[in-house]
Amino acid sequence: MQNRLLASYAALDETTRGRRHAEESPAYRGEFQRDRDRIIHSTAFRRLEYKTQVFVNHEGDLFRTRLTHSIEVAQISRTIARSLNLNEDLSETIGLAHDLGHTPFGHAGQDVLNECMQEYGGFEHNLQSLRVVDELEEKYAQFPGLNLTFESREGILKHCSNKNAKLLGDVGERFIKKLQPSLEAQLTNLADEIAYNSHDVDDGLRSGLISLQQLREVAFLNTLYEDVEKKYPELPDRRKIYEIVRRLISIQVIDLIETSKSRIDLIKPETISDVRQHSESIISYSKTMCEQNLAIKRFLRENLYMHYRVRRMSAKSSRMIKELFNAFMDDTLLLPPEYQSSVKQQTTQSDKARIIADYIAGMTDRYAMSEHGKLFDPKQLT
Ligand code: MG
Repeated sequence: MQNRLLASYAALDETTRGRRHAEESPAYRGEFQRDRDRIIHSTAFRRLEYKTQVFVNHEGDLFRTRLTHSIEVAQISRTIARSLNLNEDLSETIGLAHDLGHTPFGHAGQDVLNECMQEYGGFEHNLQSLRVVDELEEKYAQFPGLNLTFESREGILKHCSNKNAKLLGDVGERFIKKLQPSLEAQLTNLADEIAYNSHDVDDGLRSGLISLQQLREVAFLNTLYEDVEKKYPELPDRRKIYEIVRRLISIQVIDLIETSKSRIDLIKPETISDVRQHSESIISYSKTMCEQNLAIKRFLRENLYMHYRVRRMSAKSSRMIKELFNAFMDDTLLLPPEYQSSVKQQTTQSDKARIIADYIAGMTDRYAMSEHGKLFDPKQLT
């Protein structure tokens, strides 16, 4: 029923490339609804509550966590998907799942784990998200992982090196053949960008690490500021910030919908296969919005991500992750029993390291800090 309302080039239940392990179709739900529900019930999804991007969990209760970020991505994705007659359920699934493989402590954690894993195949959070849904969640009797549809897995794997793509089978093919994913995957990728750019501006302002005056250095953000200032000159700063951020989200979303609509009209895909075969992404911002986006990213990098207080926490996080990894590599008997038994089943050093990386990547910020304390602080109980 629902699919009849969707565009012919949307991801449809009827044209899904299916699941790795055959299953009967669910009663009363579509295939992508089932995928979404499996994500929501997963352990990795619940852990997102205590994982962060810019601010570490204990720095404040009001900043975004990976969980609230993922919900914002899903919300933005659904709006875009619905406006373009695409599959909202699939976009929502990808939005909720896209960060499942993130390490504790945001990008600092991912970068240092990648460094630690250099000799053993590296660590990439995006690939890890796929590993979580394909292998690491242990929920079902008949198969490992969540056994999601090809389309959800294709959407989760946003980027991938050719070397890794070759090891992934069907879902890695598009990186080798230079094909595109579904429109639902394309739009969720950009919804992620809209969400983090906007909420980092918001969190940056509310944390006091950046000021409204600084924001005005970016021409596009200054127009939003002036618009709010003109309409509501008496408004306290806290509400001004919110008025600016909501404009920032809306303008980008509307630009993305309108630009993508006209690109679809021009390119005229008829099926999802036409979408995949197209030489480039069909979902896109206008050229102006692309430039404005870059300016926001540059501003956030220079003023927020490089802020000395953020850098101090990142440096501390990196040290903790590195020390945890080295301690477990040197003596696997320090690992909790279930990981020890997984390590014992491995024959190569790389496979052993991968289990340790899985353990560390699965940690929340506070769990990583507590594990670090137990291993390195002589006064703490183990
Ligand atoms: Mg994200």
